[in-house]
Amino acid sequence: MASPDGTSPTLQAANKAFARLDIDGHDLPPSPAPSSPQAGRRRYALATELVYTETKDQYGASSIPIYQSATFKQTSSSGGNEYDYTRSGNPTRTHLERHLAKIMNATRALAVGSGMGALDVITRLLKPGDEVITGDDLYGGTNRLLTYLKNNQGVVVHHVDTTNIDRVREVLTDKTTMVLLETPTNPLIKIVDIPTIAGVTHDANPKALVIVDNTMLSPMLSNPLDLGADVVYESGTKYLSGHHDIMAGVIACNDPELGDKMYFTINATGCGLSPNDSFLLMRGVKTLAIRMEKQQANAQRIAEFLESHGFRVRYPGLKSHPQYDLHWSMARGAGAVLSFETGDVSLSERIVEAARLWGISVSFGCVNSLISMPCRMSHASIDAKTRKERQMPEDIIRLCVGIEDADDLIDDLSRALVQAGAVTLTIDGFHATDAEGNGSTPTSA
Ligand SMILES: *Cc1c(COP(=O)(O)O)cnc(C)c1O
Repeated sequence: MASPDGTSPTLQAANKAFARLDIDGHDLPPSPAPSSPQAGRRRYALATELVYTETKDQYGASSIPIYQSATFKQTSSSGGNEYDYTRSGNPTRTHLERHLAKIMNATRALAVGSGMGALDVITRLLKPGDEVITGDDLYGGTNRLLTYLKNNQGVVVHHVDTTNIDRVREVLTDKTTMVLLETPTNPLIKIVDIPTIAGVTHDANPKALVIVDNTMLSPMLSNPLDLGADVVYESGTKYLSGHHDIMAGVIACNDPELGDKMYFTINATGCGLSPNDSFLLMRGVKTLAIRMEKQQANAQRIAEFLESHGFRVRYPGLKSHPQYDLHWSMARGAGAVLSFETGDVSLSERIVEAARLWGISVSFGCVNSLISMPCRMSHASIDAKTRKERQMPEDIIRLCVGIEDADDLIDDLSRALVQAGAVTLTIDGFHATDAEGNGSTPTSA
């Protein structure tokens, strides 16, 4: 149905969400929507921008009010006010989206109900016969959604080792419509070269979209849009919110047409983030910088502790990481997720169960520290055969480091390692034990 002024419903809907941007502070109803001094442009350092917001709230509220309302009254019978129905747009969500656009270096950001909801919105850009290239060490839920699209929607999905550019080239053709990347991967902590892959992808098909899942780093540590990606998305459930008290997903891009298409899906399917969760995500984002700084510093100490005791540790903050330089060419930090191997699945199970401060839980990015066995938990939806093909060690333990005192975390981990029999504690320090429980050469304590 065309509107009186002849614009398509899609455009009308998009205009509604974007209506009267008011970057200069004029002509808006007393709505708190604008959060950025200038849409999508950063003026200050990121740590400042994270906490700095501007609103047009009629009472000058310093925290965005929760517009817990499904509908908004119109001033004329033909409607046309900035907001009418929360599925299409809500002031609390818009405020959050503009704030996210600013910190993600994007012209448009969209907030939805979960990280997987974000990927669902993005993959609805695909049509039957389209080809997707993606990694072989993907987040379990991403793997599940792509498998569904392959089995039910006629989308061709190529899983390759995206850390090897030759493997990507082998499957890249002018039929490639989407390249979906995660870096660092999880739990194998492999680094993917976003600028190079974006370059070869756009050479093969200028219309192909390079999509980056930036959940592991957050906008604090990396801006994939600046590295050549067309769309970036992340789970707001992780670092962005930081407290494991909401589910959320965010999408950002610079192409307005692409933004409109994805907004169309959000409005059509009703997956926009609720006002209450938009408020909570906004609150979480403000402390992203201090949380991430502390989590990273703790992760670095723990990675060094484990490595010094002879474990194979995967963490981009360690010089021993084979792609250390590549990671630091794209990111401002190493993040707070690391993994290590023990050589024995049941030993790993005992370590995980012996930890007290480290909660056994999936997910990461929270203020408290977590420990898990990905092959048993977050990645269990990938079948054992596929895990084996992708060289995922069944004994791998993932640590998601929080903001606690680093010494407490290390003490608790040491105790769990000793209790599980992974190391023996003697007068001169820790000794890593082999699978039979025999102490090996002493390592420094
Ligand atoms: C958690 C996660 C997701 C999915 O996000 P949800 O909010 O749980 O739906 C996607 N990608 C990565 C890398 C994740 O860690």
